[in-house]
Amino acid sequence: MLQYEEARASVLAAVPAPLRERIALGDADGRIVAEQIQSPIDLPPFDNSAMDGYAVRASDVVSGTRENPARLRLLGRVAAGETFSGQVTPGSCVRLFTGSPLPSGADAVVMQEDTRVDSATPMEILILDSVKPWENVRFRGEDIKRGTSIVEKGEVLTVGQLALLAATGCGEIPVFRRPVVGILATGSELTELGESLAAGQIYESNRITMAALVRKSGAISRTYPLVKDVLEKTRLALIEAFKECDLVVTSGGVSVGEMDFVKQALTELGGELQFWKVAIKPGRPFVFGRFPASDWERPSVNSKLFFGLPGNPVSAFVTFVLLVRPALLRWQGASDVALPTHLAILAESLENDGERRHFMRVRVAPDGKAYSAGFQASHILGSLAISNGLVDVPPQTTLAAGTNIQVLRWD
Ligand code: AMP
Ligand code: MG
Repeated sequence: MLQYEEARASVLAAVPAPLRERIALGDADGRIVAEQIQSPIDLPPFDNSAMDGYAVRASDVVSGTRENPARLRLLGRVAAGETFSGQVTPGSCVRLFTGSPLPSGADAVVMQEDTRVDSATPMEILILDSVKPWENVRFRGEDIKRGTSIVEKGEVLTVGQLALLAATGCGEIPVFRRPVVGILATGSELTELGESLAAGQIYESNRITMAALVRKSGAISRTYPLVKDVLEKTRLALIEAFKECDLVVTSGGVSVGEMDFVKQALTELGGELQFWKVAIKPGRPFVFGRFPASDWERPSVNSKLFFGLPGNPVSAFVTFVLLVRPALLRWQGASDVALPTHLAILAESLENDGERRHFMRVRVAPDGKAYSAGFQASHILGSLAISNGLVDVPPQTTLAAGTNIQVLRWD
């Protein structure tokens, strides 16, 4: 059976090269940048005032105090957005606001709170405190210098980066395309939400989970109707999904039972399996393949990736975050496809007495301690619902309370 790392490496190796598109910056939150972006301008673009106050020459106001103010002649006023054509000469000042360009000749800004104007002499400004040279001045380029790289190829755009890109005037940005991911659930026992449950039936929950995880991975989900455990229906459903999507993810029907038709349907319609079964718990029966069959060494967007996840809801969830998520991110050109991790201290022991690595559900509390989310069987959604991470527990291993662990996060 394949080890997790081998399975993940062969999935990533099969992902085709990412495709580029240009989009408006306003639509780019969470998208993956297709090339390094450098700032075309200095930021701020000009020296400007950090305060409402007066542009001065610091040497003119060294003696200014509340009791004995320095007196400066008011030359004019520069609102934010305006410029001043004159010069601040010795003994003079200019009224400024936050963001007003610093007039030439001035080398500091005295904040308004440290000034006074007597109504009888409105053109004389009393300066009640000294300022150091360049105090309250924001310098051209002190944030970002022209030509500096502000985002790197392969990075997921954050809101902070969007703010910076906007400030440098970037209205459109090259990003990698997002794949459309077809989502199917197989199983004759499955009932659509909103319908009443007949005897022996259960509500279908995996498509909701998978679609949400697809979106969290930056991709576009397309959900298909339920598929009964009938070979022909499975085949037709896969054909439909491959026609409309870049990748297809199914749940159920990949075990060894005679009602498990997914593998057969894929190969019969001209696809191929690359591997089946990974040495992890939950999620051993996991199919990776593609349609149509082609050269595994030369990934092409025309050969679409296929992921057949196990039907047990926790197995589907865990195999998605461990094996499908990295592929969706790589498809979009992401440089980092690993799940975020987070250091925590185990609050209680986690025991894996099996032969496979067990990705156990835990809840990391605000105190930084990781608690078991409870019963770990692959059909237990209650423990999935309260968990916020997974801990990779090696086979035949007990991690004792107090152990420092890496928690894999998906939220
Ligand atoms: P399978 O992998 O098809 O053998 O299914 C394994 C278990 O998961 C069975 O108990 C199924 O009823 C259950 N199951 C399969 N698919 C789903 C689904 N989409 N939603 C909820 N439970 C499912
Ligand atoms: Mg089934």
